Amino acid sequence: MLRTRFAPSPNGLLHLGHAYAAVIAHDLARARGGEFLVRIEDIDGTRSRRELVPEILADLEWLGLGWDGPVVFQTERIADYAVAAERLMAMGLLYPCTCSRADVAARALDMGPDGPIYPGTCRGKTALPGDPVAWRIDMARASDLAGPLWWEDELAGRQLAGPEAFGDVIVLRKEAPASYHLAATLDDANDGVSLVTRGMDLFRASHVHRLLQALLDLPVPTWHHHGLLLDEAGRKLAKRRGSSALADLRRAGEDGLALAQALREHRFLAGISLSTGVGVAP
Ligand code: GLU
Repeated sequence: MLRTRFAPSPNGLLHLGHAYAAVIAHDLARARGGEFLVRIEDIDGTRSRRELVPEILADLEWLGLGWDGPVVFQTERIADYAVAAERLMAMGLLYPCTCSRADVAARALDMGPDGPIYPGTCRGKTALPGDPVAWRIDMARASDLAGPLWWEDELAGRQLAGPEAFGDVIVLRKEAPASYHLAATLDDANDGVSLVTRGMDLFRASHVHRLLQALLDLPVPTWHHHGLLLDEAGRKLAKRRGSSALADLRRAGEDGLALAQALREHRFLAGISLSTGVGVAP
């Protein structure tokens, strides 16, 4: 059965860009007789706010986007992330890293899709249990081991995976039980998500996810990276830049069903446009 998901991080209230993403995930599932799941990506302990979850769910109901099955929380899956990371460690693909973001920025020679490419400063180092380290994947070794990999985007077509462009990404973060890459990849597999819908800003992350799927023997979904709503300055919508929160529109008595319909028909509010390019600044 086809299954999609909407996977918000409860770091802030949802805005129109989230509504657009949720409409797409919901409608693709419904149009094909599939299921639509909601997953709360709440493992970022410093930014995640549990109290926003009821607001997010109320927004989805207000938009008329009913979901199937219980809402899933990443914080309930931490043991799964640890098991997968141990497997990658046992394959000799992870190494501990003590560098701060500033260290990486200062030493990096190139920029990758996620920011400065890690220059490999800690490659080959070891850590004692309990040391505050992040674990990075040795990307060259991992890619060699996996061999050439392909993935399919419904809109962009067949893609040759190029995870090397990211360099040695973090798999287990110092301050969180997993990285986005590891948690999202494992969860999509565990949740039986067969069509991963998300914004074009995450298109290139799929190269890394395809590699993790190969290394961890996970099923390979199809992807559907949709366009992003941009503000007047051509930037991705963000609440911190003043995009209205859905919760405020809901409380003000606006019609959520009409809003969802307008998004489906690409009738956006003045000043908002849709970009289908990969290179939108975060
Ligand atoms: N949690 C991510 C976000 O809110 C979405 C991740 C994904 O769809 O893979 O941007």
